[in-house]
Amino acid sequence: MGDCLKRNAPGDIMKAVGQRLRTGLLFRKGVIQMRRCWVEISISQLIRNLDILRRDCPLEAMAVVKADAYGHGDGIVSSCLQKHHVCHFAVSNLNEAENLRTAGVTGDILILGYTPPEYADDLKRLDITQALISEEYARQLAGKGIKAQAALDTGMNRIGLNAKDPARCERLIREYAKEFCLTGIFTHLCVADTPAEDGFTRLQIERFNAVANAVSDLCLAQVHCMNSAGSLRFAPTGNLSRLGIVLYGLKPDLAMTLPEGIKPILAWKTVVAMVKDVEPGETIGYGRSFTVGRKTKVATLPVGYADGYNRLLSNKGFVMLHGQKAPILGKVCMDQMMVDVTGIDDVHMGDEVTLLGDGYTADEMGRDCGTIGYEVICDISKRVERVYIEQDI
Ligand SMILES: *Cc1c(COP(=O)(O)O)cnc(C)c1O
Repeated sequence: MGDCLKRNAPGDIMKAVGQRLRTGLLFRKGVIQMRRCWVEISISQLIRNLDILRRDCPLEAMAVVKADAYGHGDGIVSSCLQKHHVCHFAVSNLNEAENLRTAGVTGDILILGYTPPEYADDLKRLDITQALISEEYARQLAGKGIKAQAALDTGMNRIGLNAKDPARCERLIREYAKEFCLTGIFTHLCVADTPAEDGFTRLQIERFNAVANAVSDLCLAQVHCMNSAGSLRFAPTGNLSRLGIVLYGLKPDLAMTLPEGIKPILAWKTVVAMVKDVEPGETIGYGRSFTVGRKTKVATLPVGYADGYNRLLSNKGFVMLHGQKAPILGKVCMDQMMVDVTGIDDVHMGDEVTLLGDGYTADEMGRDCGTIGYEVICDISKRVERVYIEQDI
């Protein structure tokens, strides 16, 4: 079974998924060619998250798999979701939509953002649904038989028709229904994860419903306004839920509590490249930003900011080694970094190190570098190999 993981071709990995792989075993056999820095993605946990969300949110799921499924690999994630009867997908652009088709996704694919009108033929050829992001944009795509959904701006001020003028929205949507194969309308909630702002979210939902009710006679198949936070915190509205971050087991906001059993599906790992003792008074790394105070056992790790490890974690973050925290010493370099392993026994070259996973989630890492879990996982760079497993991580 091992050989099918040698290359990262989606087909090969799909063969491997479903065979109950034990990564430790695979690594020991040397099947993963580059045991330097990799991400393990648990397909079982992805499906468990989906099942829990289906239980708790009555609306049908539209899986948001933009940005390479938030860094998890859009082809494989989408194929696995499709096997579990998800038939609506959302992406941010035409390349991502085409990737899904190439990976064998046959369901609806909605592009949430801008596709240059020059690509109208590709939208048609690939049977992709395009969000109509403005009146001007819709005029350029009209009359070409394209599948489309009208975006409504209910207060985020990003894209869509201004829902503060429902009569105008209604008139335009009725026009779109003639000029496009119009399959739905949607809006996006911008503070659904923040209890102190629930009044604004309710206002957004009201504005959306006013337009949705005005065009209810069009019997649009997809009427949706819920993202992960909205789906978990508000009464269901419309007939689809756009689920992104929570499918991957992370929180829309660090203060939110996720339903029991939803867990991150990704763990980010590396190994120890070198261990040495450093004497008091010595400094570590670029800029000599860390001075050693006592004799210190230092491990060098072959991962850096070019892998997407945020440099803001310099002298601040930590990694997990043998179940213990090893603080980062000095600046994170492009391809390497140093950590303090003084209190940790038996550290050797080749030992496994957890950057993200049990004991430290992307949400927590996001907080520690002044951003959000979403950005942490999207930033894990393409040179970090993705390994798909059917077990818990
Ligand atoms: C990214 C995005 C989502 C998914 O948001 P999550 O918070 O990850 O669930 C839903 N809708 C739109 C329009 C988006 O851009």
